Amino acid sequence: MLSERGAEVTIVERNELGSGASRGNAGFMCTTLLEPLAAPGAVRSALTSLNDPTRALRVHARALPGMVGWGMHFARSATQKRYVAGRVALAKLNLRHTEALNLLGTLGTDITLGPELVVPFKDPALAEHYLSTLAPMADYGVELPQGLLDGDEMRRIVPALADTIRAGYVVKGDHSVDPRVFVDSMISAVRSRKITVIEHARVTSVGRSDRRINSLTTTKGTLTFDEVILAAGAGSRPLGKLFDLRIAVVPGQGYNVGLPVSQALTHPVIFEEAHAVATPFADRIRLGGTMEFDGLEPRFDQRRVDAILASMRQFINLEFDAHFDTWSGSRPMSPDGLPLMGRPRQYDNVVIAAGHGMFGLSLTPTSALALTELVLDGRSSIDLADFDPDRFRIRNLVASAR
Ligand SMILES: Cc1cc2nc3c(=O)[nH]c(=O)nc-3n(C[C@H](O)[C@H](O)[C@H](O)COP(=O)(O)OP(=O)(O)OC[C@H]3O[C@@H](n4cnc5c(N)ncnc54)[C@H](O)[C@@H]3O)c2cc1C
Repeated sequence: MLSERGAEVTIVERNELGSGASRGNAGFMCTTLLEPLAAPGAVRSALTSLNDPTRALRVHARALPGMVGWGMHFARSATQKRYVAGRVALAKLNLRHTEALNLLGTLGTDITLGPELVVPFKDPALAEHYLSTLAPMADYGVELPQGLLDGDEMRRIVPALADTIRAGYVVKGDHSVDPRVFVDSMISAVRSRKITVIEHARVTSVGRSDRRINSLTTTKGTLTFDEVILAAGAGSRPLGKLFDLRIAVVPGQGYNVGLPVSQALTHPVIFEEAHAVATPFADRIRLGGTMEFDGLEPRFDQRRVDAILASMRQFINLEFDAHFDTWSGSRPMSPDGLPLMGRPRQYDNVVIAAGHGMFGLSLTPTSALALTELVLDGRSSIDLADFDPDRFRIRNLVASAR
């Protein structure tokens, strides 16, 4: 979008374009199911996971020292009031989702949407509860499910669902995309424009004077510019340190695994009871889930993949034994589940675009629109007040403790 509006753009990437979480994720393009991880009960769930490698939400004891400040902000956010406020903020950010997605489409990104998302449950009471949490989204153009369906109705929509499923609903505004197709087409659109891409380049230092960053020195040379956008996903915190910025983002590792396609999986499904998803693509079903906090360089743990496969067997009938292509990648997790987008107070020519957490694919179009306007027009027509990158200050913790 920046380039389309006449900006001269250079992308510096430490690996290759598309090597991050955006291409490996589950492909849910949501406007309705958006929610922060910091929900009531999340702190207890995280703390009790310390010694259990199979829990969907897991914190490693070795990661704790690096998460003290982050964890305090997370705990502060995990109240009912702040959780609902977080949902509303995400809904407001995505109000112009369709317009922004179509704009990406006109610029060359493949925005073909798959079928609607389906949310099945074993426990009808839990289904009722999850459905009720969607209520605040109704004020933001989101069409809510009309009510609960029973198990047989759910199996008529998605024949692969197991007999254990007794309730659920269809989310009309949320769909899947194949994130490989989405990201690859975006990369092609980038490469077809006058955009300079420098891959396999590590930023080693930054040059600054007063309130401006003037240069970036990378392993492939030094760059000068008017503006710098810091958007390094789960790697944003260490990169921010070079700028003397404290970016409150930690990696939240997730896994996925491929299964053979099945005509019986007609829709993407999310099993809230297992915190796992299954998304049908043309060449595979992508089964994924889990949230693992394991420090800045998370390690791959096969037990977590096995746990996803084992738990999913209770919900859906697929060819689990034929699984292939296991992948892990990290979500850029902020404490309150909202992105960090905007100018940090320290600098006049730096913009942060990080912390998109569990929904960075879904938030891509509106974030791109908002940040393009911020950089080129000095302000965004999308209100970014909830996403202030400076909001995680110690003094905010002190104020909330009073
Ligand atoms: C298992 C899993 C499932 C998910 N499912 C969904 C979903 O269904 N729907 C949804 O909306 N979201 C989903 N997400 C979240 C989504 O993928 C992320 O929020 C999103 O990809 C973040 O985008 P990003 O551009 O910030 O980071 P990334 O896509 O990870 O890109 C960051 C890039 O920055 C580069 N980089 C890092 N550090 C540096 C550095 N120092 N210098 C230069 N380059 C650097 C990396 O190499 C990488 O290419 C999922 C995530 C995971 C892990």
